Amino acid sequence: MEAYESIRTIKGIGEKTASNYEKLGVFTVGDLLMHYPRDYDYYGDECFIEDLRPDENSVIIAAPVSHANVFRKGSRSLTSVYVQDSSGRIELTWFNMPYISKTLHTGVKYIFRGRVSWKGKRLVMRQPKILTKEDYYNNRHRLLPIYPLTGHVTNNSIKKAVKQALESVSFPRDTLPAPAVKMYGLIGHKEALNKIHFPNNRAEYRQAHKRLAFEEFYDFLSKINAARKRKKLNKTGFIIDKQQFAEAIEKILPFELTEGQKKALSDIKHDLGSGVAMARLLEGDVGCGKTVVCLLAMCMAHESGYQSALMAPTEVLAVQHYNFFTEALKDTGTEVILLNGGQKAAERREALEKIRKTPDAMIIGTHALIQESVSFSGLGLVITDEQHRFGVAQKKKLQEKGIITKETPYGDTPFIPHMLVMSATPIPRSLAATLYGDLDISFIASRPVNRLPVKNAIIDESYRDRAYTMIAKQVLNGHKAYIICPVIDASDNIAAEGCIEYTEKIKDYYNEKKIYGIRVGMIHGRMKANEKEAALDDFVSGRTNLLVATTVIEVGIDVADATVILIENSERFGLAELHQLRGRVGRSDLQSYCMFMVSRLSPEIMQRLSVLKETNDGFRIAEEDLKNRGPGEIFGTRQSGELTFKTADIYRDADILKEAIEAVKTLEG
Ligand code: ADP
Ligand code: MG
Repeated sequence: MEAYESIRTIKGIGEKTASNYEKLGVFTVGDLLMHYPRDYDYYGDECFIEDLRPDENSVIIAAPVSHANVFRKGSRSLTSVYVQDSSGRIELTWFNMPYISKTLHTGVKYIFRGRVSWKGKRLVMRQPKILTKEDYYNNRHRLLPIYPLTGHVTNNSIKKAVKQALESVSFPRDTLPAPAVKMYGLIGHKEALNKIHFPNNRAEYRQAHKRLAFEEFYDFLSKINAARKRKKLNKTGFIIDKQQFAEAIEKILPFELTEGQKKALSDIKHDLGSGVAMARLLEGDVGCGKTVVCLLAMCMAHESGYQSALMAPTEVLAVQHYNFFTEALKDTGTEVILLNGGQKAAERREALEKIRKTPDAMIIGTHALIQESVSFSGLGLVITDEQHRFGVAQKKKLQEKGIITKETPYGDTPFIPHMLVMSATPIPRSLAATLYGDLDISFIASRPVNRLPVKNAIIDESYRDRAYTMIAKQVLNGHKAYIICPVIDASDNIAAEGCIEYTEKIKDYYNEKKIYGIRVGMIHGRMKANEKEAALDDFVSGRTNLLVATTVIEVGIDVADATVILIENSERFGLAELHQLRGRVGRSDLQSYCMFMVSRLSPEIMQRLSVLKETNDGFRIAEEDLKNRGPGEIFGTRQSGELTFKTADIYRDADILKEAIEAVKTLEG
């Protein structure tokens, strides 16, 4: 069996099963082997009923003392049975599994495994699994893989398929250079795969993880290294050197640029006039003002007679940029073209037509910009905002669309657009320099001077009334507020506020309290593009002044007079995500507030969130984490965007990354 062969070569996987695997991104045997467990389960020793502890997964060997009872309520049922061992007695319950009652016989011992929790003053074990002797004794003390699943593929079937693949696949030569393996004490690729799926203990898991993470880092860094060597002389075939227009616009802005913005702009000016294609990352914390830098860069392209395009990750954001540009340029007669997926056919046709015909157009859009139907004419500068939201391929495509060899006044010299990517990903500068080694970096460290730091509080349920009062106060003072819910619909399965239900709840709350004047809006990811746009528009213009939202508003949304944000179930978010959300307030000279609501004030949660309270600086937060190297989930992988690896994590695995950097330097120069 070869790694590139379809998973259908595995026994037991037919056409139907294969299509289910495909939904997991598993097409080949190699993909299957790289479908790593997301976690491991562990069957410990059995324990006596009297020793059971709440919130732990435990195994007991016990016999029912009587028949199981099934309580029914509508279509739902609860099965309950008391079991005992020599030490005591406990109730076991199962939700919606009435058939369990038939399998249990009084006086017979079974092996139950489950989590124990309080029910009043007693402990109960809810939803325990009944293990066979074979299953329990064979797997005890081993780490059992738990795979990411969707739809119809079960954990067990993946386990079986992986076992088979590991036995029969022929592995090529080791993928890492031998000196690296030796120098850093790594295990082989095949051994690592065996141990990542079926480690006997934590030590084996760590060995496997180290090897696979190292491999990913090495591969990534060596590609960057190659790109850096290649990049040296990428001639554009044109020069962007006119600056008067940009300077004039800068003068009429309602604010003075910060030092950081000025420096970034001068880096960009230098690149645009150099004749060599710019490949630059503009990194700066949320709210530091990256948009205006890109406006001014696009003004330079415009005046020099070239097109420029700004690609935003969402339509809402594209529209916001469009409005900002239009406002800034309103007295100059310069038009900005908007292209995004939600437009009506006629609007879209008109936009496409203008893009084709206007050689110095300033264009803003979503990934609609990289579709077939768009044809640029003399695209000199491409910018991606919040680049971590785009794949590498999407970004490249925008630049490639601008590469032409005909139609340039320089004959058949290639025409390569400059590229700027903007990001608020809090990757410490030192690390960014390595990971984005193929890009030059401009770093905006300062924030606009008029900003007061956001005041933060971590609160729980007992503070809810005061939180709502505080929101009401801000709103009735003419400011605006956000409330963030982790999910769109509340459900019984997860303890998290749902945006839709919450919107009604909060309206009722203020009505009951007879607090009037709070106009509640809602925005979430399942709304249509134009609905989202309208919701945001209402909020910006003040038709609503309290916006209940999911994380759709996480990136980029800029509403200056929003002064308070309440984030429900904060413990469910990564720190970086929370920091991004908090970045929605504190965007003017008004004092702003951020309240992190948690479902319980446990020491772990407080410890994890405390850094947010201590600082408002995203880079400090990242740096801090890198120093402490806390648990990997601190940074939601989404935040690292394209720096997301299958198993490696640039924060948690900072040690391994350091070694990989060293190895690439030594071995590839
Ligand atoms: P981000 O870097 O997060 O994309 P934005 O570009 O959206 O931030 O800017 C945030 C807000 O700050 C905007 O309302 C913008 O107009 C404003 N702003 C930008 N630069 C300055 C400045 N130098 N002084 C005052 N306000 C500024
Ligand atoms: Mg932005």
